Amino acid sequence: MKTLLTNALIIPMKTEGESLRGDIGIDGPHISFIGEKPDTFVPDTTIDASTMLAMPALVNAHTHLAMELMRNYKDTAPNLHAWLSEIFPIEDKLTAKDVLTSSRLGVIELLQSGITLFNDMYLFPESTAIAVNEAGIRATLGLTLFGDLASSKQRIREREKLTDAAIAASKGRIRLDIAPHAIYTCSKETYQYGHAWAHDNARQMHTHLSETKKEVDDCLKEHGKTPLEYLESIGALQDLPTVLAHCVYLTESEIQMLKGMHISVAHNPSSNCKLASGIAPVATFFRNGINVAIGCDGSSSNNNQNLFEEMHLSSLLSTVLTGDIAGLTPFQTLKMGTINGAKALGMDKKIGTLEVGKEADIILIDLNKAHLTPLNDPFSALVYAAQASDVDTVFCQGNMVMHKRKVLGLDQELVQKEVESCWQDIQGR
Ligand SMILES: [Zn+2]
Repeated sequence: MKTLLTNALIIPMKTEGESLRGDIGIDGPHISFIGEKPDTFVPDTTIDASTMLAMPALVNAHTHLAMELMRNYKDTAPNLHAWLSEIFPIEDKLTAKDVLTSSRLGVIELLQSGITLFNDMYLFPESTAIAVNEAGIRATLGLTLFGDLASSKQRIREREKLTDAAIAASKGRIRLDIAPHAIYTCSKETYQYGHAWAHDNARQMHTHLSETKKEVDDCLKEHGKTPLEYLESIGALQDLPTVLAHCVYLTESEIQMLKGMHISVAHNPSSNCKLASGIAPVATFFRNGINVAIGCDGSSSNNNQNLFEEMHLSSLLSTVLTGDIAGLTPFQTLKMGTINGAKALGMDKKIGTLEVGKEADIILIDLNKAHLTPLNDPFSALVYAAQASDVDTVFCQGNMVMHKRKVLGLDQELVQKEVESCWQDIQGR
């Protein structure tokens, strides 16, 4: 299958300021050319992209997709820990079927925000994997651990087997990673076992870290170490690509520690604001060469999967925090949402920029909008003015998975109805 996108405003996201007007050829899963169509390229489908901006699809580096069910629920909790005490009893009632229903809604929302890869941490990853395949999207699904070693071992054994078939069917679009929830919900042995499993199976780790001041204070009291120092001291970060979600309270010495490690930070600005957690020092991370990606977190602490909103907020918060608009440029903010996310998940050789030979994860943004007129600087426009609803068409691994905002692999109306009735059912249990 060959697809031709004609006359688009193209932002490859390789170099600051680089944009061009031209065509893009997609041949099977790959980008075949960018710029001028060679005579040898004969497309099966042609899309007129003359009113569109083409850029790499976005990467959501931290979420809990099936929390769509608890959207706009218990929003008055004053902080993360009070909120978790409201959410955990609901999660205890969830079944694999609930998570499938909710994940279907989640993948629709992700695609409608221009996201083709998400880094998930939730229960029943085998259910989310089914929704991922139905939508034709990509995911690194964190096999989520809580509590002690025995329950973690059992969870890994069960979930790994249950997820096998969906991973085999995904054409490399799904990877099962390990995701110990946090230092205050997992034992030392759970982290160490999860680390060994990921290390032995060439996977990544994904965990929450330094999200609140309480987490840091409690860790100092219990272990005499900050959360990052604690994880490092128990060997949970050794030689393992890891995504640390939040990192609001990293100290200067922790930032220096991160420089020598294979670790990326997933910044979650909406969630950190909503739960009064704080503002992560993103400009400082950038200045120290740390790879910073961006996540939406779950839809019950955000309350959506809109990465355009997260990029906008990241930029505003960084300026408020530092008093310096130059600390995080629009290009750097867009990198957080694209190539840095791909790098955080070990996918930067495949996706994250528009380059010949990479897999075609491309979004087309409709520029024919009042709030995008005049466009002037397209990088500024994408960070400060664009909305998720401007994403018109999405390609993932060369396949068109959304066109004119319709997600092609799922029936949105039906999914929304099923989520409504699923949520009613859960509340009655
Ligand atoms: Zn989270």
